[in-house]
Amino acid sequence: MPTATLHTTPLNVNPLDAIQSDSIYPMIDTHTHFDDVVFNHDREQQAQTAYQSGVRHLLLIGYLATYFERLISTQAQLENLHSKSKPVPKAHLTSGLHPAYIEDHSESDLDYLAEFLQQHQHVALGEIGLDTFTDVLKTEASVAKQKRFFSIQLDLAVQHQLPVLLHIRKAHAECLQLLKHHAYDAHQLGGIAHSFSGGEQEAKAFVKLGFKLGVTGQVTNPNAKKLRRAISEAVREYGLQCLVLETDCPDMTPVCCQQGQEITRNVPGNLTHVLHSLSELLAVDMPILAPQLWRNSCEALRVDWAYPE
Ligand SMILES: [Zn+2]
Repeated sequence: MPTATLHTTPLNVNPLDAIQSDSIYPMIDTHTHFDDVVFNHDREQQAQTAYQSGVRHLLLIGYLATYFERLISTQAQLENLHSKSKPVPKAHLTSGLHPAYIEDHSESDLDYLAEFLQQHQHVALGEIGLDTFTDVLKTEASVAKQKRFFSIQLDLAVQHQLPVLLHIRKAHAECLQLLKHHAYDAHQLGGIAHSFSGGEQEAKAFVKLGFKLGVTGQVTNPNAKKLRRAISEAVREYGLQCLVLETDCPDMTPVCCQQGQEITRNVPGNLTHVLHSLSELLAVDMPILAPQLWRNSCEALRVDWAYPE
């Protein structure tokens, strides 16, 4: 849903003019599942809305080998709109085998991932990591397989010199330990701890290792006190440089966009709410925060996308 501030922008406005309005800033959505089937009926419209609300680049994140081709077709769909002079964000690929789906991954999926990385240009590898949120994921066998897949994918990231996007849930200490013993160096290759959910100490530990913290719509929830404090404290110690924005759509819908008790689909255009909320939390004005977050994303991904002036 558009924000109150966005309502001040006429719908037929040239999006380039819209950037200059005082409420819309250029942004990079560092984590989306915009290839998900829930966007099949209106992806084109949502892509245009995202552009109008400031999103200039978005990352398409892979998590299951079966869906990797969907990343390619979604990227092609947005490219196609762009070539028809319809302003939409540029989509970039990042594929990986997600730890929460560990039961579904086979050894051959690792070979397929390696092949897929060779065949298509990637901006990162992910999402990968460790997840012990459920009883099934917590079992010794699951954790062992998760660690093995995580480690092999970190090898691939080193081999391809790509940053990684980490998914970590209830496994921050284990993840830190594995990373510290692996040749993957985030200070050299970049990387993002996506949808960061840990506490203050963990936040600082990941930043210290060279990762940026991915901030989602969870930050818009005033009750997410632990998360909001972790973000504030990481910034107090390491500066604004340690954060990037993400929607993680269709999940993590900002509080302001939720409708009643039902789970409301998150969309890339909602990234602006995450930016606004972060601006309030950190008491940093948007004209300073937005370009800083843009630079942070570029640094995390080792790209040099120009900030639209
Ligand atoms: Zn994700």
